Amino acid sequence: MDAGAKFNFMNQIQVNEVGPRDGLQNIDTILNIGERLQLIQSLERAGINSLEVGSFVNPKAVPAMANTDALLEKLVNSNSDYSVLIPNIYGYELAKINKVKEVCLVLCATESMNKENINKSIKDTIVEFKEIINRAKKDQIKTKIYISVAFECPYEGLVSSEYVYDLTKKFLSYGINEVVIADTIGAGKPDQVKKLFRRLVKDFGPSDFSAHFHDTRQLALSNVKAAMEEGISKFDSCIAGLGGCPFAPGASGNLATEDLVSMLHKEGYETGISEEMLKKSIDLVSNFINLKN
Ligand code: MG
Repeated sequence: MDAGAKFNFMNQIQVNEVGPRDGLQNIDTILNIGERLQLIQSLERAGINSLEVGSFVNPKAVPAMANTDALLEKLVNSNSDYSVLIPNIYGYELAKINKVKEVCLVLCATESMNKENINKSIKDTIVEFKEIINRAKKDQIKTKIYISVAFECPYEGLVSSEYVYDLTKKFLSYGINEVVIADTIGAGKPDQVKKLFRRLVKDFGPSDFSAHFHDTRQLALSNVKAAMEEGISKFDSCIAGLGGCPFAPGASGNLATEDLVSMLHKEGYETGISEEMLKKSIDLVSNFINLKN
């Protein structure tokens, strides 16, 4: 792709920051609500306006995300787009009560991983998620689904791209607003990423898709580029590359926001994000972690 084509094609890339949820949930240190709020506001000052800020899951299972309702109360006056992860209908109802505008669902593309993650079969998960999507449409809440372990599973190995395609197609037919292809253990390779997105974009267009890569094998940025070449313009990333996945062995850090933004700017894309200000967010989160350890 030459520079001219790139600018005609798309020069604006949207970064969705997942540090306040995916990052903080997967480190040992637990931040309090004030600290979680400070991190979010620091990221916003850096120009990030799309963030996953918390979840409504059992606080005993995920203590780092307890009291997300109290956090949301403090964010009501912001203009950013906030999403919250929910595992089931109960979580959906909590999100609705707390006026969440976008909920994230996670479906793993293998039975073993899905069982590990939410202790349900894929079939039962799909039934429940379909009901959530129906309720959300009525409530005018946006829905986004992560197809997790989309390339490789720590328990079952290589994942069929045909199956990921079928799951994606099914959720689009239910009226999901966005499908995130998630390489949960950072095992995906650029040719696999290209192949999957080429087919999805050909059949459904690029606008309903985004991608979530991990840097386990230092391939996250190459995978971002591969997805961009197929027309994808929305990516998850996580400040300081925090986190992984507690239920997936070998899932080290998320793609770092500062790495993604730096690469995009060097390649001539716009993100609306200040690299200088991101450093302050990194310092902030490092201080929180260091103070407690
Ligand atoms: Mg992740």
